[in-house]
Amino acid sequence: MRYSAYSSSIMPVEIKEIGDQTYSFDCGRDPVFELRQVAYILTGETPVIIDPGSTSAAREILDGCPDIGVAPGDFAYIIPTHIHLDHAGGTGFLAKVMPDAKVVLHPKGINHMIDPAKIVQNFRAVFGPDFEDTLGPVLPVPQNTVLPAFDGQEIRLNGRTLTIYFSPGHATHHIAVMDSLTHGLFCGDALGYIADETPDIPFPVGLPPFDPEAYLETIDKLAGLSPDIIFYAHHGAETGVRRLLSMVKMICADYARIIRQALKAGEGHNAINGRIRRYSASHCPEKDIPAIVEASISGYVDFYGRNSR
Ligand SMILES: [Zn+2]
Repeated sequence: MRYSAYSSSIMPVEIKEIGDQTYSFDCGRDPVFELRQVAYILTGETPVIIDPGSTSAAREILDGCPDIGVAPGDFAYIIPTHIHLDHAGGTGFLAKVMPDAKVVLHPKGINHMIDPAKIVQNFRAVFGPDFEDTLGPVLPVPQNTVLPAFDGQEIRLNGRTLTIYFSPGHATHHIAVMDSLTHGLFCGDALGYIADETPDIPFPVGLPPFDPEAYLETIDKLAGLSPDIIFYAHHGAETGVRRLLSMVKMICADYARIIRQALKAGEGHNAINGRIRRYSASHCPEKDIPAIVEASISGYVDFYGRNSR
């Protein structure tokens, strides 16, 4: 059975072995969010999928699983780093076809995954009423499959241990996953967004309710784990961790400073966007800043509008 026969327009998945028993499944740029979506599968006796993406992406991934010797019934855990639909929209679908898998979720995200009506409604408001025609339906996660996450939680697999770290900022319910086997960190959206157009720059991104102060604390917390490799959900695996972490921290702090100053000066939307565009252009002079980065300005404005300091 080919699961992707039920999908419309996601690109064929590109599978790469990126570490010991560790694979990336690059589903290409989805047509709704316009972000590259990369899921990760850890193989071995108890396979795990991290950040499966939408249901359409999840179907593509399932079709690729035989290539790495894994069947849906083998999976022990499904771990979305957070419940935004570009990371977790396919979780309910996967829980149905992976009968033995537990779904690891931050406690704040559980109700929204068991009953996704509210997040679907919010996404329809932003991305249009038909987004599920492209990304596939957002199915509920059965309550009895949920394993609530806690900070520092260890998930012991045969040959590796995954440790869950709460990593708020991009979302209050964000988690990151440190892997003992690769000494790599699955960071979701907690450590910046690397666009295809600007592959050297991890831009800090977050739509309201974004918390840039928590985001900065999370960068320090995750940097303290000293990962050798970072697995980005919208990009792929990267070494050069120190440079990437110091850069995302610097840009986030600079955005926060610039936007706080602009709000204090009573500047409006256009002036603030102009300031951020000029600042960001100093990092990527040849190119426009990615659209999601520009959209994220609203996350900072919303936060500092509510928390003037
Ligand atoms: Zn997100």
